[in-house]
Amino acid sequence: MHLFDRRTGLNVLIDEVDVPAAQWARAPRQVSIALTNACDLACPFCYAPKAAAVLDAAQLCEWLDELDAQGCLGIGFGGGEPTLYRRLPQVCRHAAEHTGLAVTMTTHAHRFTPQLTDELAGAINFVRVSVDGVGATYEELRGRPFAELVQRLTWIGQTFRFGLNCVVNTRTLPDLDAVADLAASTGAAELLLLPERPARGRPGSSQNTVAALHQWITNYRGPVALTLGEGDTGSLPIAQPLPRETGLRTYAHIDAAGTLRRTSYHSAGEPVDDRGILAALDRLQQKDVE
Ligand code: SF4
Repeated sequence: MHLFDRRTGLNVLIDEVDVPAAQWARAPRQVSIALTNACDLACPFCYAPKAAAVLDAAQLCEWLDELDAQGCLGIGFGGGEPTLYRRLPQVCRHAAEHTGLAVTMTTHAHRFTPQLTDELAGAINFVRVSVDGVGATYEELRGRPFAELVQRLTWIGQTFRFGLNCVVNTRTLPDLDAVADLAASTGAAELLLLPERPARGRPGSSQNTVAALHQWITNYRGPVALTLGEGDTGSLPIAQPLPRETGLRTYAHIDAAGTLRRTSYHSAGEPVDDRGILAALDRLQQKDVE
């Protein structure tokens, strides 16, 4: 039995309880949802699809209700850039008021204003801000002033629990110490390290870069908790709190065209139609069996 508090992110696993399989949650524990493919930045390592697509807000709220009823614990809004999604505050408020889902969001943060912060306050449980380096590295990759980012982090930190997401490649690896310092000085709760994936002709992080990242993690003694993308852990000693929860029981992704996929990197998917998300999940699972 898995208990979860969306306000604090606390997870409690009671593994003495043997719950019959018929009562297990049917939805994935976590679902990421790309609200829109639109983005106003042009990061070189971006893997988000560039075809115009955006989810319908009323439809989206129905999906959230279904996921909540079927035992999903949290959803992560992304894109594209989710702050470009016009109905973002309304959808987050729906999740907060009508479901028990934890809502997180991954953003470049440059569209965070005091007004948007007010609109999202109490409706988002965790904000993930993409920061791959500091100073000139950040400005070269994201094309925005680093000082502006630090200002936005300050605003975000006054209202939300937040973390930093860092894409790790040969360009950003030397900045890891500075990014960890930034996380600590701005009050981030977490630093998520994401080796770059191959996309659009870029090869992704090399084995050497990933090995250097693992070494950096091994030597890290900072105060901010580190997390690492699943599949990127190599031989690092990682806790496996839910070893029997794998594949689509753990995680699924819905893209901005409304297609359910195993992850945003998988090309195969099932459109979520009037039958809902669980039906699409069953079809996707069936595809794999066939
Ligand atoms: S901010 Fe995110 S979605 Fe936008 S271009 Fe950069 S990586 Fe892609």
